[in-house]
Amino acid sequence: MPEPFKIKSVETMTLPNAEERKKAIEEAGFNTFLLKSNDCYVDLLTDSGTNAMSDKQWAGLMVGDEAYAGSKNFYHLQETVKEYFGFKHIIPTHQGRGAENILSSLTIKDGDWVPGNMYFTTTRFHQERNGANFRDVICDAAHDPSREDVLFKGNVDLKKFQDLIDEVGADKIPYICLAVTVNLAGGQPVSMQNIKEVSELAHKNGILVMYDATRCVENAYFIKDLEEGYADVSIKDIVHEMFSYGDGCTMSGKKDCITNIGGFLCVNDDDLYLRATAMVVQFEGMPSYGGLAGRDMEAMAIGIKEAMNYDYISHRVNQIRYLGEKLAAGGVPMVKPYGGHAIFLDAKQFLPHLDQEEFPAQALASAIYVESGVRTMERGIISAGRDAVTGENHKPKLETVRLTIPRRVYTYAHLDYVADTIIDLYEKRDTIKGLEWVYEPSCLRFFTGRFKQK
Ligand SMILES: *Cc1c(COP(=O)(O)O)cnc(C)c1O
Repeated sequence: MPEPFKIKSVETMTLPNAEERKKAIEEAGFNTFLLKSNDCYVDLLTDSGTNAMSDKQWAGLMVGDEAYAGSKNFYHLQETVKEYFGFKHIIPTHQGRGAENILSSLTIKDGDWVPGNMYFTTTRFHQERNGANFRDVICDAAHDPSREDVLFKGNVDLKKFQDLIDEVGADKIPYICLAVTVNLAGGQPVSMQNIKEVSELAHKNGILVMYDATRCVENAYFIKDLEEGYADVSIKDIVHEMFSYGDGCTMSGKKDCITNIGGFLCVNDDDLYLRATAMVVQFEGMPSYGGLAGRDMEAMAIGIKEAMNYDYISHRVNQIRYLGEKLAAGGVPMVKPYGGHAIFLDAKQFLPHLDQEEFPAQALASAIYVESGVRTMERGIISAGRDAVTGENHKPKLETVRLTIPRRVYTYAHLDYVADTIIDLYEKRDTIKGLEWVYEPSCLRFFTGRFKQK
């Protein structure tokens, strides 16, 4: 089906010439995060905050109530989150990591363990900053890009979760971080069945279930599309059921709330809520705005409702499948099945002549930019960082380049351009050189690290 929207306002885009692109990537230290947005053509760096808001959301900005406390937009947001997510308390934050900071600080003690279905960069950073050890409990198939037969690759392996409980004791595990969908596994969903089982095992042991709810609407679409018994259930009801098994969530509004900024923390526990309100005033702002303007909260409340619309979410996920199928027809290796927000190129298979220590995904993201002006992102050894204790590089099995599709921004014609130029590059892949560090930051190194060609 075509786009379920028509275009009311446009932004001109230009393609720098080959010479300009080469110069730009050199100046950016072969790090696509350091490119200027003006030097990029189709920008698939991230789906975070890059969404196109609707006419109703823009209208919502005009009814922003910029009171310091008790803004009417906060009450609108609170009511909306209660209705759609079902959690008892909500605290707005400037974005997702603001919520991660509060949750991690309030629940983790030094030496604790936090299991998760794979990790997310900022999420794990806050867990480790507060003294926790992270344990990956995602199913093995999630680490294998070729396991196309597994539909819910985001699922937790219950045995791995049980093993951790046996090994360290449940009192050392404040919560399990359950991501829906799993970004770094390739935008892979978690089934309702698995959510129920995780919740049962966690609660039996007195462990909280805290969702990373960032892409919960995409997860709900996969449940509706793929899991038995959900074909006739609405996206709204699926989201509500998913969260009914847990105790709270952190949310990046910049993804599935279809806004440009914002986030929130939800908890059911009254005491944890009180402690979170005491902390949010130190780092974000009053509990009724948490670092956001009234208008931002209004746009987020409207965005949450729009995201639950079936035509919207079905078009979004199917745009990603469309790009995946075009690339597959050109033989390009990818993580399969295709995820909910992005296509992940398998950089190890794309560039078999490079060792993982030569940063194949970083090199490939740079080469794609030079070839086409399309901006993508490394999700591999650079993003994984170093072990907090040993200082060794984490060496993830998945070495990927992420082509992330912003919500409601690009058309199928843009995706055709992306696919055609990447297929051209694939045909001359052996000309792509590896990279080495010029500057390695001590944390979250993928954002600002610099490289040179070997
Ligand atoms: C983006 C993201 C976050 C962090 O949210 P920000 O709004 O960028 O701070 C957390 N988890 C996942 C899975 C994300 O994709």
